[in-house]
Amino acid sequence: MRAIAKTKGTSGAVCEIDAPRPPVNAGQVSVRVTAAGVCGTDVHFYEWPEYMAREYAPDFPVIMGHEFTGTVDRVGAGVTDIVPGVQVVVNPHLYCGKCHFCFSGRPVLCDDRPILGCNRDGGWAEWVSVPRESVHLLPADVEPAIGALSEPLSVAVHSVVERAPCEPGDVVLILGPGPVGLLHLLVARFVGARHVIVIGVASDRERLRLAAKLGAITVNASEGDALTAVRRIKPGGADVAYETSGHPDALHLAVEATRKGGRIALIGFADHATPVDTLQLVVKEKELVGVRAYNTNTWLKTMAIISELAPDLKQLISHTLPFSAIEEAFGLIKRRECMKVLVEPGL
Ligand SMILES: [Zn+2]
Ligand SMILES: [Zn+2]
Repeated sequence: MRAIAKTKGTSGAVCEIDAPRPPVNAGQVSVRVTAAGVCGTDVHFYEWPEYMAREYAPDFPVIMGHEFTGTVDRVGAGVTDIVPGVQVVVNPHLYCGKCHFCFSGRPVLCDDRPILGCNRDGGWAEWVSVPRESVHLLPADVEPAIGALSEPLSVAVHSVVERAPCEPGDVVLILGPGPVGLLHLLVARFVGARHVIVIGVASDRERLRLAAKLGAITVNASEGDALTAVRRIKPGGADVAYETSGHPDALHLAVEATRKGGRIALIGFADHATPVDTLQLVVKEKELVGVRAYNTNTWLKTMAIISELAPDLKQLISHTLPFSAIEEAFGLIKRRECMKVLVEPGL
């Protein structure tokens, strides 16, 4: 079968390969992949900085792809509650099910958590075999490509609903208008935010335009004072902020522009340690929380809202490419010339 793999632990070394079709073991389902997302993590995986090697250490070649959707075409022994033909999405995190974190309902922090597409073969392939419990039914009215966004959408649901909850009527601040930022916008609007302010810089002009189309108040921080812009909308500051860029300036702005007692969720990966004005957190009782991925039950919430969000999610898909164009996909993401890029084995 056709697949995209990282073939060795050096920078680059990602290409289309011919791989054996995986067997369908007991307890597994075979998914015929229809569409898969490419994200910033995949670009890091491609570039292979030292921390990636430390974090993942896979056996090469490893088939990449942790954001994917498809149709069940076979089920392994013992799988009786899912039938071939249904469309599904896959939670790419495998959990041990027996550590402290799995038992306390936070498998996101599981001590032994391989990730499909990073440490195990993933979904940039024609077929992938996954545990039954990793699979969620994608509502039949949702077109397949939308399902490929369910993984990053689950990150936004974990962030906006679970880690730093946005309440109805809240004024929300989102730093970074990339795909993850705009998915936060969609979820914040869904749960009833009154205003969602999305902040970007000059090179984000296209992305800010899309954010505005999706209902945000947009601010180009390169052209004006973003803090003043937030305070004009809510003098005391935003109720909750989601920092998706990983940029130090954005973190400072998030802390500064959030109201007393507000919450700031950090989703973006920073390149290096960033100082924070801790006095603001102390005297104004602001909370800073990290958001890594999602829990198992987060996916149930994602599946419950995905039909309603589908028309907006569709607008986030800027490119759909064949497997052979994977390097082009990485280039688009690195140069931020895209919103969400998908690859499809059928192209
Ligand atoms: Zn991703
Ligand atoms: Zn565990």
